[in-house]
Amino acid sequence: MTERAPAGTTLLVQGGRPLTPGADWHQPACADIAIAGDAIAGIRDRYDVPDRSVEIVDARDHLVLPGFVNAHYHSHDVLAKGTLEEVPLETWRLYALPPQYPPRSVEEVRARTLLGALECLRSGMTTIQDMLTLYPYDERHMEAVMAAYEQVGIRVVFALQYADRKGIETIPFWKDTFPAELHPLLSTAAEPERKLDLLGHFEATRLKAPARPLVSWALGPSSPERCSTALMQRTMELARRYDLPVYTHIYESRGMALQARLTLPQYSGLLIRRLADEGVLDPRLNFAHSVWLSQEEIELLAEHGAGAVINPQGNLKMKCGIPPIRALQEAGVRVALGCDNCSCSDAQNMFVAMKLFALLAAVSDPIPGPPQAAAAIRAATQSGADGARLGDRIGRIEEGFKADLTLIDMNDPSWSPLNSAARQLVHLEAGRGVRTVLVNGRIVVRGGKLVSVDEGTIYEAVKTVMPGFRKDFAEISARVAKLQPWLDRAHRQILDAELDVERLPFR
Ligand SMILES: [Zn+2]
Repeated sequence: MTERAPAGTTLLVQGGRPLTPGADWHQPACADIAIAGDAIAGIRDRYDVPDRSVEIVDARDHLVLPGFVNAHYHSHDVLAKGTLEEVPLETWRLYALPPQYPPRSVEEVRARTLLGALECLRSGMTTIQDMLTLYPYDERHMEAVMAAYEQVGIRVVFALQYADRKGIETIPFWKDTFPAELHPLLSTAAEPERKLDLLGHFEATRLKAPARPLVSWALGPSSPERCSTALMQRTMELARRYDLPVYTHIYESRGMALQARLTLPQYSGLLIRRLADEGVLDPRLNFAHSVWLSQEEIELLAEHGAGAVINPQGNLKMKCGIPPIRALQEAGVRVALGCDNCSCSDAQNMFVAMKLFALLAAVSDPIPGPPQAAAAIRAATQSGADGARLGDRIGRIEEGFKADLTLIDMNDPSWSPLNSAARQLVHLEAGRGVRTVLVNGRIVVRGGKLVSVDEGTIYEAVKTVMPGFRKDFAEISARVAKLQPWLDRAHRQILDAELDVERLPFR
């Protein structure tokens, strides 16, 4: 039965198979989605073709998804994709966040931001959580990032990354293993800003400024061991005052779990216990990685409503391990998905992340459990939205929600025959089918190409800045190579040190 499209309809997505919350996710029925301005105005079996002022998107033979939410991403090292083989996390950080880089040019910051956003959009992401390190902080860089995102038209949950403790003090065995003269080479750019109260500056210049339509602010304390109690408390005080989500890294590697055991006896060696006792644990917090959480800490996350963001690609490439996906699910912890840095993941591809989520859930508990395909899709959409405190606006295809949609062309071997849309999305589709992407009711990808900015100009901008980037990256690589014997020794010590693995949900 057809009916008239709602008043104010500006765009009609016609004849696709939307994964609405109530649909059969294996055989989703065809439906039309009416969009008025930036929001979904209605979803019905069929709307009358409205007058010619309404744009029609022919979605026949397309699966229609809520746009993916990349819940953990850093745009600062986009140009370093594919530069590294698999290396341990502690070594990788020296490549990804070197403080010894000469200051970057505005052109480079702009090019990398555009390129990263392009890759995200082309793989169906409509929202990215950019936890950005700008070191040394430069307001012109911040402006370039904001302008690039605005031009591309992607939704951004933006946080600056900060810390007030030096990296070398937070990694087991480093201080004693490396000769003192090498210590200055071991810090990274996620370090205390020397000249600026970054959080205060961010509050004054951004949080108090008028809202931007596609940008929402977040806070990014780099990780609890790199942030003092005072800094974590100040962060959460701001987060509560402005109702902001907070993103931080936790227990990505064995070394990070070991560091907590060695330095936090008063909290039974548990970082999450420390945060709970400091009064900062709450639903605004999102813990990227969460690979080495103990069972007790998983229960604390559940109790306080804090969430995890799993980044399976980087965790595997940097030899970190497998997150306890099933234990998190069973405890009722919010679990979102991210693709992390380009120098470790390396792809910003939610299809890969969803597939690994489903497969690694099997490793983290071999007993059959809940259907993981649907869980992976929810992690890539709704849970990321919830963690960003945008769960009432994005992450689902529902009337009143923002029109952030990704259309997948099902005229492809991955989709023939159609046995289960959910399972084929997670286990077969790898991104080849992304055809159309809408953000906030606007078409930004059409026919598989970015339309908001000419893609060719982005590739050209990248080519222009690469000679400078390559030269500096080669210097950093040479510096890390000099440190290699000590890095290897420290890594061996981390692996050999005893860790109370019986507290972990699986080994
Ligand atoms: Zn990260």
